Amino acid sequence: MSSNDQLPVGLLGATGMVGQQFALYLDGHPWFRLAWLGASGRSAGRPYGDAVRWVQDRPAPEGVAGMVVRPAAPDADCPRLVFSAMDASVAGRIERAFARAGHFVVSNSRNHRLDPDVPLVVPEVNAEHVELIPHQRRKRGWPGAIVTNPNCSTITLALALAPLRPFGIRRVLVTTLQAVSGAGYPGVPAVDVLGNAIPFVGGEEDKIQAETRKLLGTLRGGGGAVEPAAVTVSAHCNRVATVDGHLVCASVELEARPSPAEVRDAMAGFRARPQRLALPTAPQRPVRVAEGEDRPQPRRDAMAGGGMAVTVGRVRECPVLGVKFTALGHNTIRGAAGASVLNAEYLRTQGRLEGDFVSAAADPGRPHAG
Ligand code: NAP
Repeated sequence: MSSNDQLPVGLLGATGMVGQQFALYLDGHPWFRLAWLGASGRSAGRPYGDAVRWVQDRPAPEGVAGMVVRPAAPDADCPRLVFSAMDASVAGRIERAFARAGHFVVSNSRNHRLDPDVPLVVPEVNAEHVELIPHQRRKRGWPGAIVTNPNCSTITLALALAPLRPFGIRRVLVTTLQAVSGAGYPGVPAVDVLGNAIPFVGGEEDKIQAETRKLLGTLRGGGGAVEPAAVTVSAHCNRVATVDGHLVCASVELEARPSPAEVRDAMAGFRARPQRLALPTAPQRPVRVAEGEDRPQPRRDAMAGGGMAVTVGRVRECPVLGVKFTALGHNTIRGAAGASVLNAEYLRTQGRLEGDFVSAAADPGRPHAG
């Protein structure tokens, strides 16, 4: 695909922790070009470089820093494809407004993840769930669509579990150690998290428990519904004083009772079906199995596959459930911006983002293509 084939894209929540990661991640992307930024009234009307409190290692891309931030409402200039990284307190209603105006909203926020007609997708795990889109459009009567990716810890867990589906996953007990960047900016107060592990991440345990079952679930009813997997998941979530990267420690009960070596082989050999579609940011190996008991290089492991691979280690016997392991994923890349971009790449290969488009906000009388 040449740069002429780059689709312009919008970004809601552009100024936040995840929004900044999007701006970096989309810089130089072969298929997408950031063309529209939206955020709250605090930022609207200001150049992005002034409105944002930039907290990334690399500077904001030049072309983006000078763009003027818009209010988070559909307007005539907003492209069809819009990524969403907004605060969950407002994301639900704003994303629905964009879908009603004909936009394709690819979201990070929790608000619609568990709606029965909204795909919750990790392409390597359950790409086929995008089949919910036509059903969503019919049911909601909107020309756009909302597609979501899971919560940052859930993505890491789901990628580690996906290779184990042939063994029959019955029960999962998972403990997370989550980085502070997962709480946005300014996030967790330093006096709370320094020298401490905070045994509470609001809403996270429920999300992991429910989202994992939907992700591993099966499409039923002619593609109109997802039957959640019959897997019981129990999660404990903790905030720790690392900057990036969520570590999950999981014990898993598998029906076929494979040995740790068989589990390790299944994980190391895992290749996703969309991999064959050559998505630009899909890692060669979505799950990497690290050797060695001690791996004191969390930043290197979190950035495996450009931050898109999950690094599994210490696959061993669990005396309670059968097998246990650790898995590390980058929370704002694989767990957020990168996850959405990968979903959009997959949607594009399915021909779901093509066609003429004028926002209903620009011309409510004009019918939408596609
Ligand atoms: P954040 O740093 O607090 O950023 C929130 C963003 O939402 C900002 O751009 C903010 O704009 C915007 N916003 C707030 N109120 C708004 C309003 N009334 N209208 C329009 N925009 C508004 O949060 P974050 O960590 O980036 O997270 C963003 C979303 O991604 C959340 O839903 C979060 O749960 C989800 N998520 C985060 C992670 C992670 O690792 N951080 C991972 C997965 C998913 P202003 O700057 O103008 O206020």
